Amino acid sequence: MQDPFDITPLLSWLPIESPPFVIAGPCSAESEEQVLSTARELAKIPQVKVFRAGLWKPRTRPSAFEGVGSAGLQWLKKVKEETGLMTTVEVANPKHVKEALNSGVDILWIGARTVVNPFSVQEISEVLRGVDIPVMVKNPLNPDIKVWIGALERLNQVGIRKLVAVHRGFSFFSHTPYRNAPMWEIPIELKRLYPGLPVLVDPSHICGETSLIRPVTQKALDLEMDGMMIEVHIRPQEALTDKEQQITPVQLKELLLGLIIRETYGTIEFENKLEELRTEIDKLDEELIHILSRRMDIVEEIGKYKKENNITILQLKRWSQIIHNRVDNGVKLGLSRDFLLKLLEALHEESIQRQTEVMNRER
Ligand code: PEP
Ligand code: MN
Repeated sequence: MQDPFDITPLLSWLPIESPPFVIAGPCSAESEEQVLSTARELAKIPQVKVFRAGLWKPRTRPSAFEGVGSAGLQWLKKVKEETGLMTTVEVANPKHVKEALNSGVDILWIGARTVVNPFSVQEISEVLRGVDIPVMVKNPLNPDIKVWIGALERLNQVGIRKLVAVHRGFSFFSHTPYRNAPMWEIPIELKRLYPGLPVLVDPSHICGETSLIRPVTQKALDLEMDGMMIEVHIRPQEALTDKEQQITPVQLKELLLGLIIRETYGTIEFENKLEELRTEIDKLDEELIHILSRRMDIVEEIGKYKKENNITILQLKRWSQIIHNRVDNGVKLGLSRDFLLKLLEALHEESIQRQTEVMNRER
């Protein structure tokens, strides 16, 4: 394990009265009116302490809206003057950092696409040497905790002590209900390694759409995350970036009202162990499904064989043998007779169905 980071606690530099700590604002700053009207509404929500807006947007295709750039810095100044909210922007290179610092932005964040590149993170760190500003580090796109830790280390080494990690989910090779798979075990491991490091969740980029935001945010809080960075737009349907995942200030208020802030958290060790066990269950269920699919393949083969030999599908003798033998074995292994009977019944029904399909198929 590496040396623990030298971290200034979140509560010493943020005026939080009631948890969770919330950073909210649009994915992108689009116009002065959009920025200010969103900020005005957000400032009415007590948990919102920081206003976010992307000015320099990393986009997949060059034809997409790439942000308003430096022009937006003036709008953020106005947000701060008018609402008292602190402000934060994504920085991806030393030029962004210098401009943000010169304009009085309160907190910087490094995005998932920049964190993957140690050269970029080092360049950003160099211009921050000796500067006392909080920096948030999103996880890299790929599920590699070392890359995430490496970026935090680079910043800590140049003297950034107000460090925050932001969990925004990971690109995943197979389909999941999320835009970016949460893979909770990774932020949990980060918290285990660095208990003093604040970790926020970014439910917007994990979910990619609004309906999943509530359960993901609740889960993050249940895992003792310190708060959230969430995308909020005054008119999400008009958003130029990440339209599907942005909510309105009213929706944010409702979300916060509905969240359960648990008084007694389990320890990190407890959560970690729980997550480990759940991962084990996930693997077993996956195996179970593979085994069931293999079983049905063989059932089909038997069906074909019976068909070729003109034998009936239902063979009661064989079936009662199966029931006896499986139930006895299962009971010995601690499973209940009732459960085994239900399970075998379901398997049998499906098997007969599959064989009937084979019988009815044209040769
Ligand atoms: C964002 O916060 O708008 C953003 C681009 O996030 P990420 O770097 O997590 O993709
Ligand atoms: Mn976004």
